[in-house]
Amino acid sequence: MDFKIALAPGDGIGPEVVAEAVKVLKKIEETFGHHFAYTELTVGGASIDKWGVALTEETLEKAKQSDSVLLGAVGGPKWEHLDGIRPEQALLGLREGLGLFTNLRPATMYEELKDACPLKDELVKNGFDILIVRELTGGIYFGKNGTSEDGTYAYDTEEYSEAEIRRVMKVGIQSALLRDKKLTIVDKANILETSRLWRKIAEEMLKEYPEITYNYLYVDNASMQLVKDPAQFDVIVTSNMFGDILSDEASMLTGSIGMLPSASLGEGTLGMYEPIHGSAPDIAGKGIANPLATILSVAMMLEHSFGLKEEAKTIENAVKTALKAGFRTGDLLNGRTDYKPLSTSEMGDKVIAFMQRA
Ligand code: NAD
Repeated sequence: MDFKIALAPGDGIGPEVVAEAVKVLKKIEETFGHHFAYTELTVGGASIDKWGVALTEETLEKAKQSDSVLLGAVGGPKWEHLDGIRPEQALLGLREGLGLFTNLRPATMYEELKDACPLKDELVKNGFDILIVRELTGGIYFGKNGTSEDGTYAYDTEEYSEAEIRRVMKVGIQSALLRDKKLTIVDKANILETSRLWRKIAEEMLKEYPEITYNYLYVDNASMQLVKDPAQFDVIVTSNMFGDILSDEASMLTGSIGMLPSASLGEGTLGMYEPIHGSAPDIAGKGIANPLATILSVAMMLEHSFGLKEEAKTIENAVKTALKAGFRTGDLLNGRTDYKPLSTSEMGDKVIAFMQRA
């Protein structure tokens, strides 16, 4: 099959990790007979350098014309002091412009990386595999806000419409159906009206899916449960701000930020895929970044945007096999000094070497 992929490498380590992901895509083409055509998007700091803004209309248009977008990372100290212009505006512009209202963030503990998990062994003896489904374009980050003229009063507003809740709940339900059929709705329904509306809609929708076991948790309890017993969770669906916080918490449980992919999805199949880490200016240009989060983002792209499940599994299995065989980039060493870490491109090569049709 033919697919159009927009590559937005961005800044810092972005281009380094995206280059490895493209090598993996090439191997998928060879192995499965697909064809991927690429368009390069200049975004973030690189776009500010070129055009003075983080995302141009033309770049957004190119993204819209593609079947999916693979983004590296944006930002860095070079662009931190510009007035009103920030590289991260590219992310918001792409999410909004492409109508991407849900963010999927899996947090999986790889058996092979157990050592890197900050929790005690007994709490993670069974591992965990959590998918956080976060609402991405509504809630308090997008509600009415302001500050009084004298600067002594400020407000932000949490707002959700039924339609906004329904569409993200639908993604949560569909995801649960494909996994262990367990759904946790995280909210603050003892205090917030929006949470109560969320629960009412969830209850109504979930009546149609008796095969799904579900529960509700207040966000304060959920954040505690995540570190107490992460294995109890399968799919968590939640609002924008709660999802933002909980997904960072969950990602830390896995040990390294260099391992975690994400997908931003809308109504159709077009999605944006990116590692959850940033541009890592401290290691940029050294060729030592871990490319696995971006490679795993490609697996999410193949599954969610292109419907290529076997191909996605091939990548995930290759990553696991490479880790099982003991291959590590520097961020995964966990204090070990007896091992010379692989470079970014060596790690990409290892994954490719383990990629084979089941
Ligand atoms: P960061 O994720 O870039 O780095 C945090 C730490 O993790 C650093 O020590 C870095 O070296 C390490 N790290 C990150 N990714 C790694 C990888 N793949 N392999 C090995 N080590 C890795 O976060 P930060 O330092 O807070 O932010 C740096 C810049 O990135 C800032 O400008 C920030 O705004 C931006 N940022 C962008 C995104 C994005 O593009 N989605 C996300 C977060 C931060």
